[in-house]
Amino acid sequence: MTNSRALCIVGAGAAGLWAAARTASFGVPTLLLEKTPRTGTKVLASGGTSCNLTTTLASGPASALFGKKGARFLRTALRVLSPMDVRERLHGLGVATVEAPLEKVFPASRRARDVRDALERWAREAGAEIRPNARLMELRPKNGRWSLGLETGEELLADDVILASGGKSYPRTGTTGDGYAWLESLGLELVPPVPALVALSSPAGWVHELAGIALENVRVHLTRGGKTIRRRARPVLFTHRGLSGPGVMDLSDAIARAKENGEDLPQLHLDLVPGSDREEVRRALRKIEARRGAPLLRRALAEGLAEPLPRRVVRAVLVQAGCGGGMRTNELTRPQRHLLVESLKGLTVPVDATLGFDRAEVTAGGLALSEVDPGTMAVRRYPGLFVCGELLDLAGPIGGLNFQAAFATAELAARAVSCG
Ligand SMILES: Cc1cc2nc3c(=O)[nH]c(=O)nc-3n(C[C@H](O)[C@H](O)[C@H](O)COP(=O)(O)OP(=O)(O)OC[C@H]3O[C@@H](n4cnc5c(N)ncnc54)[C@H](O)[C@@H]3O)c2cc1C
Repeated sequence: MTNSRALCIVGAGAAGLWAAARTASFGVPTLLLEKTPRTGTKVLASGGTSCNLTTTLASGPASALFGKKGARFLRTALRVLSPMDVRERLHGLGVATVEAPLEKVFPASRRARDVRDALERWAREAGAEIRPNARLMELRPKNGRWSLGLETGEELLADDVILASGGKSYPRTGTTGDGYAWLESLGLELVPPVPALVALSSPAGWVHELAGIALENVRVHLTRGGKTIRRRARPVLFTHRGLSGPGVMDLSDAIARAKENGEDLPQLHLDLVPGSDREEVRRALRKIEARRGAPLLRRALAEGLAEPLPRRVVRAVLVQAGCGGGMRTNELTRPQRHLLVESLKGLTVPVDATLGFDRAEVTAGGLALSEVDPGTMAVRRYPGLFVCGELLDLAGPIGGLNFQAAFATAELAARAVSCG
């Protein structure tokens, strides 16, 4: 059976729901296909079911967090639909929002369901037809239109198609990377997908022994050949497998990418005293060394720095600096002091992998941005084909940035289809 349509949108996640609501509002007959029985599964799971739906950052600084290429690509999208525009739209849909630390924005109810329901209602009320349990299997150009082959055997013909089928992280939610095969079959360039926003594993027993310790005030650096390649100041959590927390997860795609490329992994370091420079740490150590009664160095260090450190972390720092656990403050030599400063400013934590797509919140990689017009999300080589959301080679850090990018790229695609 063949069925003719003006527009098919594939994937009823954050981007697909937004795009469908907008195209339908513009009067374009819109069919939204979703392979699972419900819409917005990842919206429901997001932010620990609270849904960190966007950021308090302005458009410029928000897009800058997607790296150089991503920032350039997203400039127009975030200018057309800024984080504040997303909040205003949600207010208009009956979802009040509140700001939270680390530049996050949540629904005031803290219920992700409210966001998902509002998006779905908006799309339906605007006139979009949402079809659940409709899995796209094949996409190909046919006589100047698009042929969409569904799992049921049905063929749909559409003038325009917006692909919003997401990445391949958290595959249990329905996103299993189906979109990559369609794009590949069209000869489009894909950046190999790797897991992002995911915890890291460590082969080092001492790291596992710190499981449960959270460091709130810490800066994470990745270095290669002694040069810092990425950094992020966000909390870190030691786990029984390695490291987690936003500081580490935000940089995890670099570990995954190096593994994917067969390169040496970057080294990961924790700056445990980010508020003090090396000279200030050295001065603090000298003060500690001059303490009366020459207490144990590990005790004095835990309390004597500008930012107190958990004792078990101090032990790891001392080991890395080559100082024994029984060492007294007045026994520190000059070379040891130097090493101690270095390990406080950059404790090296061995990591060997990410926990993979199963645990990753986002996929980095996807359709190469060079294939897409950043002003319309149109695939340059195929008129009538648009791609938005996580299927693109875009990945931002934790903090509502990925929903923001999904909504903004969907907005551009919807406008382009509606004006086209
Ligand atoms: C646990 C978790 C928590 C997260 N928390 C946050 C957060 O708080 N803030 C934030 O900004 N981001 C968060 N993210 C990331 C965010 O969910 C994604 O970046 C965002 O959902 C991407 O939107 P999308 O519409 O591109 O893709 P998705 O939301 O993944 O939607 C894609 C849709 O396409 C459907 N689909 C796939 N294949 C087919 C097919 N063959 N046929 C038909 N339909 C198909 C899928 O079932 C899915 O419904 C989180 C992710 C996870 C996994």
